[in-house]
Amino acid sequence: MNQVLILGAGYAVPHEDLDNTHLALITDCGTILIDCSSNPIVRLRKAHIDFDSVTDLILTHFHPDHVGGMPLLLMGMWLEGRTKPITIHGLIDTLDRAEAMLNLYNWHSWQKLFPVHFHPVKDNPAQLLLQNDCIRLQSSPVKHTIPNIATRMDFLGPQKSVVYSSDTEPCQAVADLAKDADVLIHEVAGKNVGHSAPDQAGAIATRAGVQKLYLIHYPSNCDRESWLRGAQSTFDGTVAFAQDFMPINWD
Ligand SMILES: [Zn+2]
Ligand SMILES: [Zn+2]
Repeated sequence: MNQVLILGAGYAVPHEDLDNTHLALITDCGTILIDCSSNPIVRLRKAHIDFDSVTDLILTHFHPDHVGGMPLLLMGMWLEGRTKPITIHGLIDTLDRAEAMLNLYNWHSWQKLFPVHFHPVKDNPAQLLLQNDCIRLQSSPVKHTIPNIATRMDFLGPQKSVVYSSDTEPCQAVADLAKDADVLIHEVAGKNVGHSAPDQAGAIATRAGVQKLYLIHYPSNCDRESWLRGAQSTFDGTVAFAQDFMPINWD
């Protein structure tokens, strides 16, 4: 199995069919989550992902629509009897705040909680974040209102690559990280500070030379046809909206 499953594709204000943006990377070596919105336990159950298969969690940045579900994920796993460790990756700014959030929930009183490791990620371009026999992950800092990273996922079996921009203004770091990747998943929250519009996401996809662009982190009431046209005005490859529970896979 080599799959990116979109667990949510919406921007900061979710909708019943469009949860906050978060992803699951499903491989034979386990499942890696990128960001942790709403209550991920519900989404994982719906996607038939075994909680115990989750080995790692990447937090791109400390905005509530990306990290708000993390205490609920850990508590749900603990109450379901998990004993396996989990590693949480992120920039030091993100991890410091994530740990402080767990301290507010007095998580040290959760008896026999499984081991939770924190792995601080350096804010270098194309920083190696994680590698196992199935996948290699790299991150690059991007241009948001707070420290944030984009993530490149290289699936080592099918030799396919996917890049997720996370929240960012159009920036060269994403184009560089996505160089010759198969798929770019780029945010389109709109032309605001720290965010991108569809034509800007298309321009980054063109600069990167990817085959396919998925638009993500969009408002539920956006005019999808005109937003698609916006992305297509600057990118000749295939463009589609990411949807909740949509898989991107190769086998
Ligand atoms: Zn966001
Ligand atoms: Zn954000």
